[in-house]
Amino acid sequence: MNYKNIIYYIIIIILLLLFIRLSSPTQIDDVNPRIQCDKELLDKSDILFVIPKYEGVSISDNLSWCKEILSLNKTLGMHGVDHTYNEFGYPRTQEYLDEGIKIFEDCFGFKPKFFKAPQLNVSQENKILIENNMKLIDTKDHIFHKVYHCSDTGYFSNNLMKWI
Ligand SMILES: [Zn+2]
Repeated sequence: MNYKNIIYYIIIIILLLLFIRLSSPTQIDDVNPRIQCDKELLDKSDILFVIPKYEGVSISDNLSWCKEILSLNKTLGMHGVDHTYNEFGYPRTQEYLDEGIKIFEDCFGFKPKFFKAPQLNVSQENKILIENNMKLIDTKDHIFHKVYHCSDTGYFSNNLMKWI
């Protein structure tokens, strides 16, 4: 294969990836009443990843917020339990995970079907624990989907994400 062909294939792959990202559901992370979130981004996203208990406060303590999020009519997933750094890189128990699921359910009236860990970091043991309860969204989903962050703390800024 010559040099020109390689460039050609790389361009095709990049275009294909951009097309897949455009046509697959957009996600937004770090959805929580204590984190300011751009309404336009919430509207644009198909799957909202909600933090059940941020800075020690449960989302189920704020039922008007729960109602407001439900009224957006989006798919909702769970994003960690309290979203501390590398939360699921450390050993976690079923009780720990259940607390987050319970708070989520008290807020929205159903259990989460999808789970995404903060920083996408999940140990092998936690992976098994989570997959017994929910579908785990991992790094490869971030390649094939656009992902915004309410607090704009992703690797790529929300403004850049609008284009890629
Ligand atoms: Zn996050």
